[in-house]
Amino acid sequence: MNYKTIVIDPGHGGTDHGTSHGSIREKDLVLDISLKLRQELLKNGYFVVMTRNKDIRIIPAVRSGIIKNSGGAICISNHINAGGGRGAEIIQSIHSNGRLAAILLEKIVETGMRRRRIYSRESARFPGEDYYYVIRDSKPVETFIVEYGFLDSKEDRQRLVQEGFRLELAKAVSRGIDLYLKDMSVVIVDLDGQSKPFPGEKKQLISGRWYLEARTFTEMAGGRVIWDSQKQKAVFDFSGK
Ligand SMILES: [Zn+2]
Repeated sequence: MNYKTIVIDPGHGGTDHGTSHGSIREKDLVLDISLKLRQELLKNGYFVVMTRNKDIRIIPAVRSGIIKNSGGAICISNHINAGGGRGAEIIQSIHSNGRLAAILLEKIVETGMRRRRIYSRESARFPGEDYYYVIRDSKPVETFIVEYGFLDSKEDRQRLVQEGFRLELAKAVSRGIDLYLKDMSVVIVDLDGQSKPFPGEKKQLISGRWYLEARTFTEMAGGRVIWDSQKQKAVFDFSGK
């Protein structure tokens, strides 16, 4: 699992149009935002896995399976809302630490879209699990459902139908992901009091938590790792100084 791979899930597709307003269909808008987001992420050096890159229907098990097996740490599931509200909202896992969703919504609001809310929903059928299958069944990848706006809100719709605005939304999400991953710098202070940044490629984001490579951490901090092959045990020794 690695944080350089981002999964993009354009909601709906094929015979599943999602919500619609006249000839404007959610499945088309979110595919377009997703393809633009893919471009932005590739430009920033990320790898991208997509659940669909054309107008096809995918059953839930396939969708969540692609995300789950992507090798990535984060999935952005793109949607457009309906039902009488206005603005952007993000649904995060009930297990999420809340940081990425906060940054993403911040960046989306900077495009001019109204802030609605960030929330999570627990399943009644599976207590302790998420209500939305795309979040629940794609673990350990952390999936965020991004609802960019309401198609039945005139203000939102006028923005969402503009290709240039959809590009702004894609850029906003890409920037948000980049900020979240790059700003989480880890500094190691060694036994001499020297501080050095922990190398990005030696840390991994798994289900919203950062994990550092133990050997790199220990050696940077001035210790050493001793592997006892007989006992199949590693000892982290910081007594050397
Ligand atoms: Zn949707």
